[in-house]
Amino acid sequence: MLSKKLAARLGLVKGEEPYLSMTFARLRQYGTPTEKKAVLGGWLLSLVASIAFGLLVVVEGWSGLPLPFGGIEVFITIYPPLLICLWWTLCFGWLWGAIPAYIATLVLALYSGMPLDWALLFSFADPLGFAAVSIGYRAIRIPRDLRSIQSLAFFVLINFIGAIFSSAGALIWCYTNQVDTLGLLPIWQGWWLGAFLQSMFIVGPILFLTHPFMARWQAERSILRAPEVEDLSRRVLRLVMVLVLGVLGYGFLTIKLGVERVETALSGVSDSPLMNATEVLTSTVWIFFWVVALIVLSIGVFNYRIFTRWESLVDALMAELTRLAQTDHLTGLPNRRSMAEVLETQFHRFSRYGESGALLMVDLDYFKEINDRYGHAAGDQVIKCFADAVRSAIRLEDTASRWGGEEFLILLPRVNQEGAHALAERLRGLVQDDAVDYQGQTIHYTVSIGIALHEDEGATLDDWISLADDALYTAKQQGRNQVVALENRGGNSAADREDSVSVG
Ligand code: GH3
Ligand code: MG
Ligand code: MG
Repeated sequence: MLSKKLAARLGLVKGEEPYLSMTFARLRQYGTPTEKKAVLGGWLLSLVASIAFGLLVVVEGWSGLPLPFGGIEVFITIYPPLLICLWWTLCFGWLWGAIPAYIATLVLALYSGMPLDWALLFSFADPLGFAAVSIGYRAIRIPRDLRSIQSLAFFVLINFIGAIFSSAGALIWCYTNQVDTLGLLPIWQGWWLGAFLQSMFIVGPILFLTHPFMARWQAERSILRAPEVEDLSRRVLRLVMVLVLGVLGYGFLTIKLGVERVETALSGVSDSPLMNATEVLTSTVWIFFWVVALIVLSIGVFNYRIFTRWESLVDALMAELTRLAQTDHLTGLPNRRSMAEVLETQFHRFSRYGESGALLMVDLDYFKEINDRYGHAAGDQVIKCFADAVRSAIRLEDTASRWGGEEFLILLPRVNQEGAHALAERLRGLVQDDAVDYQGQTIHYTVSIGIALHEDEGATLDDWISLADDALYTAKQQGRNQVVALENRGGNSAADREDSVSVG
């Protein structure tokens, strides 16, 4: 009803680019052989490459490499499977990246001698990071094309959080390889920083180049993508939780490992001022962490609260705008535009299930004279009163609309000729017997009603409406203040109808 553009501008309600995954089941069911070959072929190739590169990392020892970074030495781990699988996650959806990442890591872990049960757990590291990334893009609809500051900033933020989640694997790695806490710091740091830097400087440019094409290719094949089911505030809540957990987990581990390193280094030292200073520093750092943790948590809660408020406001606003766009302001009845939509859906129902229905086209008689004699405002009052009469006469399942100035179109589902006729007559009689009071003046008026019955599959909706028009025209021709019914029998020439005219 409302333009998609407006809805998108109002916020996240209907973003330009939803993050919808292509699903394996849909690809199998609806994909053409070429599509299947292209996607599955590329994906299997990526799986093989991920396994091969994963093994290469262990063989060549690309883990925890020292790297000078802004004056300090940091450690990074080069891990190509992460790059390949992150690209699949960003372009196709979580499972497409998670599965090869899981398998590649599992092979690598088993190859390097990790016990099977630990390896099974360990391999969740990258899929966990990808989950954070896809949760982010599901909640905040920002294009992944990296062509705007917004898109770029979100890519950096969500990949940082993703890298933190992936690096949880470092803890298992060090545990199973009996690396002590001193050795853990470089490995953990290498893991998250490596993952983050590689996402930025390798996946980023590749995504920049490939995403527009991938997005277009998928948009043209929306049948292959899973529809969105979950509601937005759930997705946003999940994102907020992931962000908070990511930041807190990162802070906690970094400080804990750093502090342990310092304490170990100082364990043999008996210099008490130095010990004191270290203790003060350590406790200060921890206090700082808990303060920051509290702030991050409150920002998360606060933002989520703002978001839900804003969302319900937008919902209410959209509902009101939709209502306004569909309602005639004078009578409160559905307007022509909204009636056209109702007719469209109902007509399909009738045709599909072979149901019968009737259209009543009603026009106020000699309305120009009423306007001339009593004034336009009085005319308006008459239109309003007639709308009330219509509302009181129809059933719950009927739809009455203001079709034009003093013309009304009423849809009666599941009625036969007698039913439609009875209602039209009741309405006509109601108006004839009842006068409108306007500023002390009593205004009498009558209506003419054309009925078009739909009992035939061949006719179109337009045929049906113009049949109602024809019936109304006949009623006017025959002297007004009366009901004329015509039947929709596929053929639409005037001669066809002549013999099916019935005058009430
Ligand atoms: P007929 O019996 O043939 O229908 O005669 P009529 O005078 O009603 O003729 P017609 O339907 O062509 O004219 C409709 C008039 O209704 C013309 C227009 O000025 C008036 N009208 C249309 N919309 C409104 C409205 O919202 N308020 C008022 N007061 N008058 C309206
Ligand atoms: Mg009229
Ligand atoms: Mg008219």
